[in-house]
Amino acid sequence: MKINHDIQLSDGKLKHFLNINNLPKSIIEDIINRAEEFHDNSKITKYTGKVVASLFFEPSTRTKTTFELATKKISSDFINIDIANSSTSKGESIIDMIKTIEAMKCNMFVVRHSVPGTAHFIAESVSSDIAVINAGDGSNEHPTQAMLDMFTIKKHKGSFEDLKISIVGDILHSRVAKSLIFALNTLGAKQINIVGPKKLIPDNYTEMNVKYFEDMSEGISYSDVIIMLRLQKERMHDALISLDTYYDEYGLNQSRMQLAKKDVIVMHPGPINRGVEIESSVADGPNSVILNQVSYGISVRMAIMSILFDNHHAS
Ligand code: ASP
Repeated sequence: MKINHDIQLSDGKLKHFLNINNLPKSIIEDIINRAEEFHDNSKITKYTGKVVASLFFEPSTRTKTTFELATKKISSDFINIDIANSSTSKGESIIDMIKTIEAMKCNMFVVRHSVPGTAHFIAESVSSDIAVINAGDGSNEHPTQAMLDMFTIKKHKGSFEDLKISIVGDILHSRVAKSLIFALNTLGAKQINIVGPKKLIPDNYTEMNVKYFEDMSEGISYSDVIIMLRLQKERMHDALISLDTYYDEYGLNQSRMQLAKKDVIVMHPGPINRGVEIESSVADGPNSVILNQVSYGISVRMAIMSILFDNHHAS
């Protein structure tokens, strides 16, 4: 599917939230600032009467639940379309389904799909008063995850300019990694390392303004932030790596933690696989902010939804 990055902005304003690629720094900062207000409970605007429909064609726990909580916290209604039992299983196309839900007066769609570009395609098809949020499109992007990751880093580290950030694991199939790299570059992180076996690194990594390390110890040394990724086995056509050696070579354990800075924060978008990419004592240890990320996800998703509602209201 061809991805049209331009569709999310109209007159310079965010009308949909589809990708971090091409998103101006000012909008990323606005989202972080608004999320901060929501997180402090200092200013929560109500969007009573707005209806958000979630369309998750792929499984999700964190993203879907935090979207639901975020919707309720801004006083809007959340409807959960049961995809497995929906008419798409009777052959109805996604667009016919969207048009049907639109007729029920929905204001926003939150979409997760295994095919890259699905949320963009829906955004191009809905009427102009409806906002679409990409909650993950295949191996392309996961922009709301990147925003909550930026919020987490800002909260724990203050700013981005002096940070060395290492992203470890299956970069090739990870939508989280792609959105993260775009966001970190836009916010001016000092150094972004990607670490993993060559087979799990995209061919075009040289265009991403990152440093590649095949060796984990080198890749995470003196890091301020380590972001661990899950092996996206659902997107691997062949067994690209052996699980027996993966943990030995790329698992984040206590001894490897000594290589990073003492105050390093450890992040993971979840779901975590203990003993596959991360040792339990690290995931649960004092440097881990993995559960904080989940909590921040609520405020960040509230911020994104409220900005979209405001922008649609103003136009
Ligand atoms: N939850 C994240 C995603 O949906 C990361 C993962 O599944 O590994 O992409």
